[in-house]
Amino acid sequence: MSAILAGDTIDTVLRLSAPELAERRILLGHALGLTRVELITRSEQALTPAQAAAVAELFARRIAGEPIAYLTGTREFYGLRFEVTPAVLIPRPETELLVELAIDRLPRQGRVLDMGTGCGAIAVAIANSRRDAAVSAIDLSDAALVVARRNATYHAVQVQLLRSDWYAALAGQSFDMIVANPPYIVEGDHHLSEGDLRFEPVDALTDHADGLSALRYIISGATAFLERSGWLLLEHGYDQAEAVRSLLDTAQFTEVQSWADLAGIARVSGGRRRSVTL
Ligand code: GLN
Repeated sequence: MSAILAGDTIDTVLRLSAPELAERRILLGHALGLTRVELITRSEQALTPAQAAAVAELFARRIAGEPIAYLTGTREFYGLRFEVTPAVLIPRPETELLVELAIDRLPRQGRVLDMGTGCGAIAVAIANSRRDAAVSAIDLSDAALVVARRNATYHAVQVQLLRSDWYAALAGQSFDMIVANPPYIVEGDHHLSEGDLRFEPVDALTDHADGLSALRYIISGATAFLERSGWLLLEHGYDQAEAVRSLLDTAQFTEVQSWADLAGIARVSGGRRRSVTL
């Protein structure tokens, strides 16, 4: 990468620096506080020493593999802008399926719980589309809860945020729906040491076991916190649908089924608490 120097114009940087870096416009715009259009209309503007240093650092970090969302501090999910930090998983497009399924199934004025909310993407997206809903979300990480709070505030939605180790702090509460995108990658999976995942919080990605332990725990505890006929909806890995349906069957859920994401992969499975006790 040719050095980025004070006095270089926006046009020069975009033509000559890091041509291999597909996101250099995004990063340059972020560093200078300019939109894509402004980068064009102000292409002859020269960088100050501080700006040149900031751009050079962002480019170098991206080339070293840091996710673009951590460098810019934002990611879009369900049409909404979310703040993200390295304390939270970066929202994935396939998780929008979970949000859609939840929005379609939540009864009017229903209470929904998002377990392991991270940046709050699922909870805030549901709360934003369903202003009638009472949305709660838990996470074990205080740092994640800070980010989730900021996202709820940014979108002006009410989300009850609580620090909890899964159900531990929820005694006495009940919900019409529980949703979760828990850590489900198998310990040692090669994806954990590749691409963006290297920079994400490992405890949000893997259960450090067979990939099913968090899903198993959430499913086995859900009935105690769900109203009768309430839905439990869970995102899981590309090859876990059958195992998750089997766990739901074992826990006496009904209407157990899986739904495919846009890539055609069974990505969410769920079921309802029975309306009568068997
Ligand atoms: N879908 C993510 C990935 O494979 C994993 C998210 C998770 O573990 N909940 O990168």
